[in-house]
Amino acid sequence: MGGRQVTSGQGSEWKGLRVTVAGLGVSGISAARALTALGAVVTVVDGGDSEAHRERAAALEGVEVRLGDAETLPEGTGLVVTSPGWKPSSPLFAAAAEAGVDVVGDVEIAWRLRGRDGREPAPWLAITGTNGKTTTTQMLASILRAAGLRTAAVGNIGTPIIDVVLGEETHDVLAVELSSYQLHWAPSLRAHSAAVLNLAPDHLDWHGSMEAYAADKGRIYEGNRVACVYNTADKATEDLVRGADVEEGCRAIGFTLGAPGPSQLGVVDGILVDRAFVENRQRNAQELAEVADVNPPAPHNIANALAAAALARAYGVPAKAVRDGLRAFTPDAHRIAHVADVDGVAYIDDSKATNTHAAEASLAAYESIVWIAGGLAKGATFDELVAKSAKRLRGVVLIGADRALIGEALARHAPEVPVVDLDRTDTGAMLAAVRSARGLAGAGDTVLLAPACASMDMFANYNKRGDAFAQAVRELGTGT
Ligand code: ADP
Repeated sequence: MGGRQVTSGQGSEWKGLRVTVAGLGVSGISAARALTALGAVVTVVDGGDSEAHRERAAALEGVEVRLGDAETLPEGTGLVVTSPGWKPSSPLFAAAAEAGVDVVGDVEIAWRLRGRDGREPAPWLAITGTNGKTTTTQMLASILRAAGLRTAAVGNIGTPIIDVVLGEETHDVLAVELSSYQLHWAPSLRAHSAAVLNLAPDHLDWHGSMEAYAADKGRIYEGNRVACVYNTADKATEDLVRGADVEEGCRAIGFTLGAPGPSQLGVVDGILVDRAFVENRQRNAQELAEVADVNPPAPHNIANALAAAALARAYGVPAKAVRDGLRAFTPDAHRIAHVADVDGVAYIDDSKATNTHAAEASLAAYESIVWIAGGLAKGATFDELVAKSAKRLRGVVLIGADRALIGEALARHAPEVPVVDLDRTDTGAMLAAVRSARGLAGAGDTVLLAPACASMDMFANYNKRGDAFAQAVRELGTGT
C-alpha cells in the first residue's frame, strides 16, 4: 500500500543543502532557481561550454555553474537533481552512488515542494505512454477547464513543473504529462489517478531494456488513490496496473475503441460512453461525447480522448464537461495537421510521428496513402510497421539518413508499392519529397508525412520538418 507523501511547510530541509543540478537546460535552470530561493547552495554542472551555455550561466544569479565537465560531483553534494535527458549510466550518477547521494528529477522536486506555502496542494492526474502524452494531457486540461476547474497542462510540456507548483496561480487539479525519464527520477510521486496510454519500444538506449522502460512507465500508478487507467488493446499497460501498489479502493479502468465492459470507457455507435463512473455499471452507461467531437477523429486520437475522459471522470467531472472540453480542444501543430487539399489530394503533417508506433497509428487513420518517411531511426526496425500498413500504401517517398532501412522493409513486405528514394538529407529535400508525392498520388489519396524517425539528420527538430512540409505543400498549391 503506497503511503501519502507528507509535505513539509517549513523548508528547513533545503537550507544550506548542497545541491548539484545536472544540466543547464530549461528544467535545470528552473530547479536551480527554486532551490536557491529556498536556501540551498546550488551548483549546476553541464558538459557543454558554448556561447549559449555561458549566457545562460551568467543569467543565473547566486548559482555556481561549472561548464565543460559533466562528470565530477562537486565536493559536499547532498542531493543531485538531474535533467530528464541525462542517462542513468552517466558518470556523475555513478559518483553520486559512490558518495551515497540521491539522484532525483525536477518532477520529484516539484512533488516535494507542493503545498509548502500553506496552500492545499492540487492533486495530479498523470499521463504517460509511448505516444499521445501531450495530446491527451491537453485534452484533459481542456475538459477540466470546461468543468470550471482551475488547472494547467504541465510536466513534459509548457512551463517547468517546479515553477507551476511554486507559482502565484492556485490550481484545483493539474493535468501532468510525464515522460519515462521523469518517472524514473520521481520515486515519491503519488498521483490521484494516472493513465498509461500505450507501450512500445522507444528510448531503449536510455533505459537499457524494454523491461526497464516499462518499469519506469509503470511507476506512474504507484500509490494512485482513485483510478489506474489502462488501454485494453495494449496488455502491457494492464500488466503495469496489476503490478502497481495502490491505495485501498483504487480502481482499474480500461479504455477501448469497442463497446465498453463494466469499469471501462469505450465507443458505441459513434458515441464515447462511460461504463465506469456511473451508478450500477453492470447495467448503465453514460454518454459523454460523439466521436465527431474529437479533433482529429483518428482512431488513436479517440483512444487519447477516452483516456483523458477517464481521468476527468475519476476526478468527478460531469459528462457535459467532457464533451465541451473535447470540442474546445485543438491539437498542437504537426500532429495529424491538415495542411491543404491540392487537386483532390489531402496533405497531412504528422511530423511528430517520430517513432514507428506513432507512424503506425497515423497510417491506420487513412485508406490510401502516399507516405513520406525517413530520418534517424534511433535503432528501430520497420518490418512490422510496413507489413501492417502495406495495404494502405499507394506510394512511398523516402528521405533522410536511415531511409534504406525503410526501403528494405518495403522491398520485403510491400514489393509492389512504388518507392521514390530521394537519396537526400539536405533541408531542401522536403520540397522534392512533396513534389514526388504529388506525382504518386491520385484524387482521394492522402499524402502523409509520418516519418517514423527523428528529424535531426535534416532539421533542427520535428517542428521545422513539419514547417518545411507545409511550406512545400503551399508552393504546390500556388504552382510555384
Ligand atoms: P507524445 O507527447 O507522447 O510524444 P503526442 O500527443 O505529441 O505524443 O503525439 C505524438 C505522435 O504520436 C502524434 O503525432 C501521433 O502520430 C502519435 N500518436 C498520438 N496519440 C497516439 C496514440 N494513442 N497511439 C499511437 N500513436 C499516437
